[in-house]
Amino acid sequence: MKNIKDYNLDELKQELISVGEKPYRAEQIFKWLYEEKVKTFEEMTNLSLELRKKLEENYTMCNYNILKKQESKDGTIKYLFDVLDGNAIETVLMSYHHGYSICVSSQIGCKMGCKFCASTGINFIRNLSSGEIVEQILAVEQDTGNKISNVVFMGIGEPLDNYDNVVNSIHIINHPKGLNIGARHISISTSGLVPKIYKLAEENIQCTLSISLHATTNEKRSEMMPVNNTYKIEELLQACKDYIAKTNRRISFEYALAKDNNDNLDDAKRLVNLLKGMLCHVNLIPINKIENGIYSKATNENIIKFRDYLNEHGIVATIRRELGSDIDAACGQLRRKNLK
Ligand code: SAH
Repeated sequence: MKNIKDYNLDELKQELISVGEKPYRAEQIFKWLYEEKVKTFEEMTNLSLELRKKLEENYTMCNYNILKKQESKDGTIKYLFDVLDGNAIETVLMSYHHGYSICVSSQIGCKMGCKFCASTGINFIRNLSSGEIVEQILAVEQDTGNKISNVVFMGIGEPLDNYDNVVNSIHIINHPKGLNIGARHISISTSGLVPKIYKLAEENIQCTLSISLHATTNEKRSEMMPVNNTYKIEELLQACKDYIAKTNRRISFEYALAKDNNDNLDDAKRLVNLLKGMLCHVNLIPINKIENGIYSKATNENIIKFRDYLNEHGIVATIRRELGSDIDAACGQLRRKNLK
């Protein structure tokens, strides 16, 4: 059965036309799904009984079951959702003074193999559909009653490796008749799939692009992130420059600081040279040590020195606040738990 939440508004109109229905029904259905957040077609009371029956027979609503919910002392909540085919995914809700932010997964498992990331031990199983991405937001809003204002694609998976579904999910998340979350409040984080960065620049969506850079030499980056064997730092930064020129949007570079690995002032100096003159911001993440991981957190002293060096040399850098570390929900800690 098709998932009704896989369609953006235009696609749903086309779908309804193809089954002999009027296109304006799509807007009514969108309203029920994303404003009223109903869980059954039966509740869509301004549709005829006949149409509701037709929808029920041909489409699913993809309502997730919560398999596990863990709440951190700082208010962060980690969900394990049953995605209805025997697999499970993790989603994290974070609360900030400016509102609620959700970290969504884009794939079940990941192919990228970054050495510091907990998702690496998981075999890649499949891409999530756009509806399965959107459902993470709906399920969390339904469970907490909170309206989410920011979406970050920083859960499990490489969003640009599931390009079409991720971009389509953004159309649904962003649409005024969909979840109505402004594109500027949506961030895509990538390990650096260069051709997809060029493609994204052409989409004309005003979302924020985050690049997981983490190292300043190709040798070091390839050691930490195998993707760097395919797309070198220079190619990656060229794609970023193109993205900035086309979209006029500031890029956010993520740099996870690991002790005695990439945290000294020579690294900071090289980072300044690489990013000089770019419209960007650096997000420093104290690396989270994963089970059997080879990298451990840089000292606070080094993290602060690193930040100060960047700021003093014209690169705006901030240290990311660690949320949810007591429930394994901090950056890079998400991993699909076994269902059994
Ligand atoms: N695949 C995407 C998005 C998922 S990871 C990407 O690579 O960007 C989201 C962010 O968390 C990335 O910047 C990633 O490099 C970072 N991250 C992964 N593992 C981490 C860890 N153990 N400690 C700190 N940050 C980590």
